[in-house]
Amino acid sequence: MKALIAVLPGDGIGPEVVAEGVRVLRAVAERFGHSFVFESAAIGGGAIDTEGEPLPARTLALCRRANAILLGAVGGPAWDKPGAAVRPEQGLLGLRRGLGLFANLRPVRVHPRLLAASPVKEERLRGVDLLVVRELTGGIYFGPSARDNGENGEVRAIDSCVYSSSEIARVVRVAAELARGRRRRLTSVDKANVLETSRLWREVATAIVRDEFPDVTLDHLLVDACAMELIRAPARFDVVVTENMFGDILTDEAAVLAGSIGMLPSASLGAAPDASAPRLGLYEPIHGSAPDIAGRGIANPFGTLLATAMLLRHSLGLHAEAAAVEAAVYATIDEGTLTADLVTKDERAASTSVVGERVTARVNTDAMSISTSNARATSSPAHETRRENARTDTPTISIT
Ligand code: NAD
Repeated sequence: MKALIAVLPGDGIGPEVVAEGVRVLRAVAERFGHSFVFESAAIGGGAIDTEGEPLPARTLALCRRANAILLGAVGGPAWDKPGAAVRPEQGLLGLRRGLGLFANLRPVRVHPRLLAASPVKEERLRGVDLLVVRELTGGIYFGPSARDNGENGEVRAIDSCVYSSSEIARVVRVAAELARGRRRRLTSVDKANVLETSRLWREVATAIVRDEFPDVTLDHLLVDACAMELIRAPARFDVVVTENMFGDILTDEAAVLAGSIGMLPSASLGAAPDASAPRLGLYEPIHGSAPDIAGRGIANPFGTLLATAMLLRHSLGLHAEAAAVEAAVYATIDEGTLTADLVTKDERAASTSVVGERVTARVNTDAMSISTSNARATSSPAHETRRENARTDTPTISIT
């Protein structure tokens, strides 16, 4: 396969973790006989400095031409000044909106080796294997906002949350399709006791699942209750679907289950002719630019490496290759090659590049022994997820 992969390292630790992602993708190309072309472009704070805007036209054009996009993170204190006319995050929001990437997939699995890295009790973490599908291009982050003069000469600020029924329907469909490939349980999260947009969300979710996915069990949960349940009983969740801001907050909370925010990957997908078709996607770790540790070579690259596996699966349709990367990541965790955010106080931490080298070496040596016939048996992301689900408790891919 030939593929063009747009590489947007961004700010802070972004370039450090993305370098490891590219290294692993190069190894995949070599091992499996593909031709991947990598083209880099600026985004975020760095793009503001060099080109005056957080999403230069050249970057957006590259992303439109590409088969997939690998991104690090954007932002940092240098661009955080209150009242700044342009902000790094506008680059990310512009990319999501410009490419119509409306569904954000954030899988959370707890690796048995990392149980101690989480502050949550081990018995609550066993069996956690959930997928949050977050709506990404609507809601309060994209609604009209303003400042005006309120009563008594006060300054007033307004952010509006807006959702249409079609925006809700398309993301609920993605989530229900993914649930169909897993344990067939979908939890829709809203704040229907207070918000009108949430009442519409609940109505649409109920109708879509009833009419189109009768084999999927749907339940509704208020966002405050969901925040509590994610810590109290996280293993109860299969697929969670929710609106933009709730998803943003809940997925950072869910990251605590996995031991570190550096562990979690995400995929942002647009529309496709059918659920199994490869489609343009943006792949990134869920963390930010972590300015407090940038430049020290200690950032955890596992989230980015798992994001490359999602890229191979969802945008390139390369299922065996995705499984090989995941197997290499889990084997590296198993052997205890871990960054500083994951080690216990008696263990020695590995650097970002050592982790990347170990995962790459495993892709090179172990990849061909993964059962490719098994991995190629289906081309549907949904089916892929079902296979993954079979190894919920031990997320190690079987090596035959
Ligand atoms: P953050 O995710 O950057 O960092 C939160 C904490 O987690 C920090 O202590 C950091 O050191 C740690 N951390 C994050 N990723 C890590 C990794 N891979 N390995 C080890 N430790 C890691 O969130 P923040 O501090 O709130 O934000 C910093 C900047 O990033 C801000 O400018 C914010 O706007 C931006 N941000 C960008 C994105 C994105 O690009 N998608 C997302 C969130 C925040």
